[in-house]
Amino acid sequence: MKIIIAIDGYSSTGKSTTAKAVAKALGYVYIDTGAMYRAVTYLALEKGYASTSGIEVKPLMKALRQSEIKFVYNPEVGFAELYLNGKNIENDIRSIDVANWVSEIAKQPEIRTYLVNLQRKMGEQKGVVMDGRDIGTVVFPDAELKIFMTASEQVRAERRYNELQSKGDNTSFAEVLANIQHRDHIDTTRKESPLKKADDAIVIDNTHLTIDQQVEKILSLVNK
Ligand code: C5P
Repeated sequence: MKIIIAIDGYSSTGKSTTAKAVAKALGYVYIDTGAMYRAVTYLALEKGYASTSGIEVKPLMKALRQSEIKFVYNPEVGFAELYLNGKNIENDIRSIDVANWVSEIAKQPEIRTYLVNLQRKMGEQKGVVMDGRDIGTVVFPDAELKIFMTASEQVRAERRYNELQSKGDNTSFAEVLANIQHRDHIDTTRKESPLKKADDAIVIDNTHLTIDQQVEKILSLVNK
């Protein structure tokens, strides 16, 4: 029997790396919902609908409804990459510019409703590992397995910093740490679907765990 695995947690807790590995081991589809919020942010920045004076939600929603957001599996990297209107934007959505705006975009109720509907459709057939902030609480409150991932702020910033460095992005450690703190703050205090642990989620603190160890842990929970 195929199930839905919901993985929620703070920024840069390695949710996506873990979710990808779990999906691969089970032959499930991995869905990165953060990438979807990032794609909307990319669209907003491209169209000039996000600026210091705020987010222009109405025209952004119109552009979003006319856009196509989809994941396309790339066998070379072993996971599905995000396409916006036929263009692969997997790299663009990881920029610090998008990271600095995404939580503002994700605060908007209209945008959340739109993306949550898309996510529910993607998970209809089960056999998915979905990661985000509200998967176990809002998107799939009946998911058979819910994981809530956390790790110390310092370790999370170090991981994200190393990842950016390896891609040739020279954002400073201080800026990465500040971005993580800022996003944690907005994500946990926003009115609409704030990041919080579902009552029935299992907490994994991976400050001192390797990716392999946490994947093992989740797979053993699936088997139970
Ligand atoms: O997971 P990732 O760090 O790529 O997510 C980027 C941002 O998207 C988060 O900081 C959060 O503001 C938003 N997000 C969300 N709900 C989700 C997934 C991501 O609000 N399910």
